[in-house]
Amino acid sequence: MKDVSALSPQRPLVDSYRRAVTYLRVSVTDRCDFRCTYCMAEDMTFLPKREVLSFEEMEAIIGVFISRGVRKLRLTGGEPLVRRGIMEFIGRLGRQIERERIDELTLTTNGSQLAKHAGALVDAGVRRINVSLDSLDPGRFATITRRGRLDQVMEGIAAAEAAGLRIKINMVALKGINDDEVAGMLEWAHGRGFDLTLIEGMPMGDVGISRTDTYLPLKQVRDRLAERFSLSRLEKSTGGPARYFRVAETGGQLGFITPMSHNFCESCNRVRLTCTGELFLCLGQEDKVNLRDAYREGGIAAVDTALDHAMAIKPKGHDFNLDRAVPQGTVGRHMSMTGG
Ligand code: SAM
Repeated sequence: MKDVSALSPQRPLVDSYRRAVTYLRVSVTDRCDFRCTYCMAEDMTFLPKREVLSFEEMEAIIGVFISRGVRKLRLTGGEPLVRRGIMEFIGRLGRQIERERIDELTLTTNGSQLAKHAGALVDAGVRRINVSLDSLDPGRFATITRRGRLDQVMEGIAAAEAAGLRIKINMVALKGINDDEVAGMLEWAHGRGFDLTLIEGMPMGDVGISRTDTYLPLKQVRDRLAERFSLSRLEKSTGGPARYFRVAETGGQLGFITPMSHNFCESCNRVRLTCTGELFLCLGQEDKVNLRDAYREGGIAAVDTALDHAMAIKPKGHDFNLDRAVPQGTVGRHMSMTGG
């Protein structure tokens, strides 16, 4: 990783609403081996490789964030584990944990490549991962992901478990598609010692299906679960739009990510770097800064300066709204660009 010692560690990233940014999510690729119906169009056109940051460039830019006080990194995508050279990259980032320059390196994955990489992730210092899983029914799973195989993902999850990774399952709750599986998913996940987080589908990018038809407010899901399970609110906050509950019957933890029906932007601590070097300052807004150009034109010093501008323009909050057309209240980019 580039020497960033010349940059001042005394200038933490704080935005104009006095929120400290300590969490960076990095989408390492826009490519994915799945085409989840709510995430991507079937015939996605992916970025030409030359537009994508090299791992060397990514590391240099991430190094600036670390020097400015970012303590937590999450790799996402696309599918992070399909990019060539990803494990070497993760290994190098992992050294930042050893050096106590960051507290945590984690990733969000669809699980398809975990059987191959789980052991190496642990060796690199990764301790927990999020696995996205929207159905436990093989046919339905294939329909939602368009090209995923449930048995491959289950094998990956088993490998991750065996390697000692803590696992959180993320499930996007979709009306008429998997809402009848939520209780079953909860019992399955908690039965295996995994946490479960439910996510509201967000209107990001044109995917060719109606967002309105499949939108399910998680309040409804919670009310339904509360008829069967005793949920008690946990105080924990990750600085994101999630609220957590303990489920008495299973002992497990259940999260609700509700960007559509509620936002908790006052505690937002994160920004998102895309694989082309654009830094998105809010998941639900278009405000961004181009760190690739900054880096290619002026090196890490220019990235450092660009981050000051980024903090000045980080929006107060998002404003997803299904009733309004793009761009007002919804965003034109797909989730695979910023990785959620
Ligand atoms: N491929 C990895 C995975 O499957 O986890 C990482 C990238 S994926 C874009 C990250 C998360 O975003 C997944 O949990 C996925 O279900 C979720 N997601 C994608 N599009 C979404 C949308 N429109 N609304 C809500 N969640 C979405």
